[in-house]
Amino acid sequence: KKEMRYAVVTGANKGIGLEIARKLAEEESVIVILTARDEKRGMDATSSLNTTHLLNGNNKKKVFFHQLDVRDPNSAQALANFIQTQFGKLDILVNNAGASGVVVDEEGLKALNIDPIAWLSGKATNTVQGVIQQTYEKAEECLDTNYYGCKRVTEALLPLLKLSDIGARIINVSSLRSELKRMPNERTRKELNNISTLTEEKVDNLVKKFLHDLKQGKLEENGWPMMLPAYSVSKTMLNAYTRILAKKYLDMYINCVHPGYVNTDINWHTGTMAVEEGARGPVMLALLPTGGPSGCYFDQTEVVEF
Ligand code: NDP
Repeated sequence: KKEMRYAVVTGANKGIGLEIARKLAEEESVIVILTARDEKRGMDATSSLNTTHLLNGNNKKKVFFHQLDVRDPNSAQALANFIQTQFGKLDILVNNAGASGVVVDEEGLKALNIDPIAWLSGKATNTVQGVIQQTYEKAEECLDTNYYGCKRVTEALLPLLKLSDIGARIINVSSLRSELKRMPNERTRKELNNISTLTEEKVDNLVKKFLHDLKQGKLEENGWPMMLPAYSVSKTMLNAYTRILAKKYLDMYINCVHPGYVNTDINWHTGTMAVEEGARGPVMLALLPTGGPSGCYFDQTEVVEF
């Protein structure tokens, strides 16, 4: 009998996360712990996956729900305790939960009729007539979710991931906005790309510097990305964290991935791909065979430069 693998997906009540959970649950040897910050949304998503699974002629429940707000350390620890008691180990962690970090006037956005391709290539500006605004409050929330949230959850679950007998897989869902070529400040870019000297402390300090510069109105002056600033920085720092972790845990497979430009709530449905396509990269990395890559950044299913 093949041993069961246990997989946590964060922010899995909708969007790409829900699709990742669905695909992993379709694997015979994978049990999914679907997590969401909202109990009701998470339980509804979980029962819908289990119902389809049973209707397809299977007899075992494949998806379990546990609440997880990645911004809340107690909630991350409660999840770890649940997994410890129920399953005793963890094999796969998909850090998918994410926030856009901006305030959006959705009606205004519709009226502007932004071309998604222009948006994607950075030709549309992020402050078009004040429709999309980078506030300080949203920036803090974004970094606390996309960067610190991932760290918080990973740290709480690492003791269980270490118990995986196949070498745990950690997948951090990033974005093409993370790419270092989009970071105008050369010093920051070089510091983040010098993996031999990079530390978590350095990355945390860059996050603090970014928030400080935002507060002072000095983003452009100090060479931060001006298109979705907090979101871009959160994902750049997430990639850096991924590389640091991969260097530290040589027996694990730790990667980050841009899922593609997917039609979901996070981009107010300007995305062009279906969630099925968006889930492909993260799922591939979650099921990565032994001996596969670690410490890499993927654009969907291909390894590309950070
Ligand atoms: P959605 O907005 O559909 O999903 C985001 C998910 O994150 C929701 O389940 C949301 O929960 C959850 N979430 C937000 N904050 C928290 C929190 N504090 N704790 C737990 N869960 C939280 O967007 P996507 O599916 O598109 O996004 C998934 C990931 O993919 C994100 O990391 C995003 O940055 C990334 N990505 C997406 C792209 C795209 O084109 N769609 C492109 C590049 C990257 P709730 O329902 O409660 O708000």
